[in-house]
Amino acid sequence: MRPIQMVDLQRQYAGIKQQVNAAIQEVLETAAFINGKQVTDFSRNLSDYLNIPHVIPCANGTDALQIALMGLGLQPGDEVITPSFTFIATTEVVALLGLKPVFADVDPKTFCLDPASLEKQITQKTKAIVPVHLYGQSAPMKEIMDIAQKYNLHVVEDNAQAIGGDYHFPGGKTQKTGTIGTVGTTSFFPSKNLGAYGDAGALFTSDESLANRFRMIANHGQKKRYYHELVGCNSRLDSIQAAILNVKLPLLDGYIYSRIKTADAYDQAFAGHPKITTPFRAAYSKHVFHQYTLLLNGADRNKLNEYLSSKQIPSMIYYPVPAHRQQMFAAFHSDRQQLEVTDWLTERVISLPMHTELDEEQIRFITGSVLEFLN
Ligand SMILES: *Cc1c(COP(=O)(O)O)cnc(C)c1O
Repeated sequence: MRPIQMVDLQRQYAGIKQQVNAAIQEVLETAAFINGKQVTDFSRNLSDYLNIPHVIPCANGTDALQIALMGLGLQPGDEVITPSFTFIATTEVVALLGLKPVFADVDPKTFCLDPASLEKQITQKTKAIVPVHLYGQSAPMKEIMDIAQKYNLHVVEDNAQAIGGDYHFPGGKTQKTGTIGTVGTTSFFPSKNLGAYGDAGALFTSDESLANRFRMIANHGQKKRYYHELVGCNSRLDSIQAAILNVKLPLLDGYIYSRIKTADAYDQAFAGHPKITTPFRAAYSKHVFHQYTLLLNGADRNKLNEYLSSKQIPSMIYYPVPAHRQQMFAAFHSDRQQLEVTDWLTERVISLPMHTELDEEQIRFITGSVLEFLN
């Protein structure tokens, strides 16, 4: 059996080596390393794929979130509601910009923002909501958009883990995750569903004037070179990463299909086990399985993690400390917040290897080992 990895990027590369190498070579030959043709092409390709008019590429997914919040014109002290059960970037940029991070609890099934908890956190100062489509499962966007409309709030969808996912509105309309709110952001970190070979990210929106602001902010606040209208930053997608992403974007749906097939096989092996809750797939969306995350009931997930390691099977805890308990937010006394579901989940989740290259033998060995430990 081939060694099992949490994410197997070497084997994925082996399958697309010639195309990727040729694409990189082309950038090297033309030496247009910044803002080359590949970057413009990628923006257009991603805009077609997502069916949204404006895509603004940037340096990484954290910058995308930061640029989104900067572009919305929020003022110091404004409150931004995010889940606490997420990767730190979602909440970190809020504090970085002098805004106040306010945490809402998540739904124990979807692991995404719970609309009821979200609505409870809204005050006069709330200006934006950042739902996260965690592990590839879309947040309940209809409910979140209804709340946003009711209180006149911006919605920044953190789509870093769900690029390519679909959301089905009641009545039949389907939209890509990340294209429903005021703005969507994503990351092309190598291990994400659409991964570059370095850091990369993007924002997307249907609002043309916002798109122009985001584009300026990502480029030192300038439209015309050396004439700076806004305080911005330097956050560019480089041409080599764009060239790689142009090769990989047409493969994304196939990659998602492989992930779903792997999730199906895991689900089947664990079906009905009393100590395992397999990932919930909400009927309102297509789950794209950035992670395959189990919820253990009556078993110690840290011991399972050690047991799997002893058999050369990697597994991960995403995330061992929720945002509201992170020291970086001590000044906000966020640890005093009651986020029962978040705390409960944090003690019980464990993610198994999930990528595009897992074969049946590896999956059988992984599921067999998990069951061996639990039985
Ligand atoms: C990966 C990730 C980010 C940040 O992306 P980077 O490209 O690493 O900066 C933000 N939010 C979530 C939910 C992520 O998973």
